[in-house]
Amino acid sequence: MTSPPFQNHYAKLPDRFYARVDPAKVPTPEWIRVNEALAGELGLDLEWLKSGEGLAMLSGNTMPEGAEPIAQAYAGHQFGGWVPQLGDGRAILLGEVKHEDGSPRDLQLKGSGRTPFSRGGDGKAPLGPVLREYIVSEAMAALGVPTTRALAAVTTGESVYREEALPGAVLTRVAASHIRVGTFQFFYAREDVEGLKTLADFVIDRHYPEVGESEARYEALLKAVIRRQASLIARWMNLGFIHGVMNTDNMTISGETIDFGPCAFMDEFHPETVFSSIDRQGRYAWINQPVAGNWNLARFAETLLPLLSDDREKAVGIAEGFLHEFEELFNDAYFDGFAEKLGLRGEAGTTRPFVEKTLGFMAESSLDFTQFFTALTRYARDENVSHLPEPFSASPGSEEWLSEWKGLAGDEEETLSRMKAANPVLIPRNHRVEEAIQAGMKGEYSVFHRLVEALSDPFTERGEFEDLEAPPAPGEKVTATFCGT
Ligand code: AMP
Ligand code: MG
Repeated sequence: MTSPPFQNHYAKLPDRFYARVDPAKVPTPEWIRVNEALAGELGLDLEWLKSGEGLAMLSGNTMPEGAEPIAQAYAGHQFGGWVPQLGDGRAILLGEVKHEDGSPRDLQLKGSGRTPFSRGGDGKAPLGPVLREYIVSEAMAALGVPTTRALAAVTTGESVYREEALPGAVLTRVAASHIRVGTFQFFYAREDVEGLKTLADFVIDRHYPEVGESEARYEALLKAVIRRQASLIARWMNLGFIHGVMNTDNMTISGETIDFGPCAFMDEFHPETVFSSIDRQGRYAWINQPVAGNWNLARFAETLLPLLSDDREKAVGIAEGFLHEFEELFNDAYFDGFAEKLGLRGEAGTTRPFVEKTLGFMAESSLDFTQFFTALTRYARDENVSHLPEPFSASPGSEEWLSEWKGLAGDEEETLSRMKAANPVLIPRNHRVEEAIQAGMKGEYSVFHRLVEALSDPFTERGEFEDLEAPPAPGEKVTATFCGT
């Protein structure tokens, strides 16, 4: 039995990049769940991980050899307002291990106590948000979306005080890295060009090795990050996902989804949908996500200006050129994604207007986003109209829509297999996530385990999980989500 072979390259960077800090000790840690499949991918010794020593590490009570716990410094724009100093206030990076794909992954404890960046907070995490992040981040991974992962969730045996006393918990988050747009902003705002260069080189080395070869490496980095984010946001939208808090400190440079605070998957489709209780202006509504993403990328580009050219005007010109490409990159990925979901063939000139028309139709008829696409997939399989949901059949124009769709989709096996691969049967519906959290708060984790299990294979129809497919009944609807920090 061996503890993880940690390295920590970030801790080798200059002191101003982070603060060294030990996780807080907790009284009586207990397991909620270990992600055995992910542990396997990371080459961790499962027997050790599931032992008392593993539990002690994942609750922050002991640090194994090689771990150099640090809290990373960053800044960011929150809902458009500049905050010069954020940083890991309730997360501590233990170090990296190697994934079976050959590249490193950060292991970070979330909810392990105060750091120099905690500001007014206690650095702790209540059980609810930990369960929520576990469920949703693992569902995203199974849906094929780049995302941070959850290796484990444990309870701490102590209470965390918010408006009331809540059970405390720690989540072990796994990411290609935790470097954010806000990390670059931290150095840019301090006019620390040396720091920016060090950070950019670290990022190229870790996430964009192909860029390292290029002559204009920082230009190539900017372009590569824009590309990954355009594709990520399109992927979210193809699944009806609303991130909810796309602040620049919640946008990774690696292109992974991060921060599952107020996020949600839509049930009924309306483009302006917002769940986050703090997003009163709808800044991060489903439809606004590409605009928010582009704005964040402009902030990222700004931080690279000193590295793009000594001539400020020239640097701005270069950055603007790349930022202009975002829209097209996003649109290509977005429309291609919907064309897959609808099994469409043909040129963008015909498929794009049909996608737009379909989304308009879905919104008008208040169709359930996920159910509509799975129903259509079943219909493509056997042409049995009883698969189609009632609100669809009842809405005027459905027959006309269906005949137009048939003309564009074709009836080959290939259409069906494309649709099956693009349309999940299961998503983490809000009311199900809420149900799992409520049971967990009473010490009953079977609902959580079952949901995690079901969502690990979201594209396969399995009778045992059929109940999890259904949209919420009127009394079950969740209309707002909370960051729950
Ligand atoms: P978030 O809303 O999760 O993106 O966090 C924004 C900032 O608040 C980050 O700097 C977090 O580290 C910090 N933060 C969030 N929750 C806590 C907490 N319970 N204790 C200390 N800092 C926190
Ligand atoms: Mg955050």
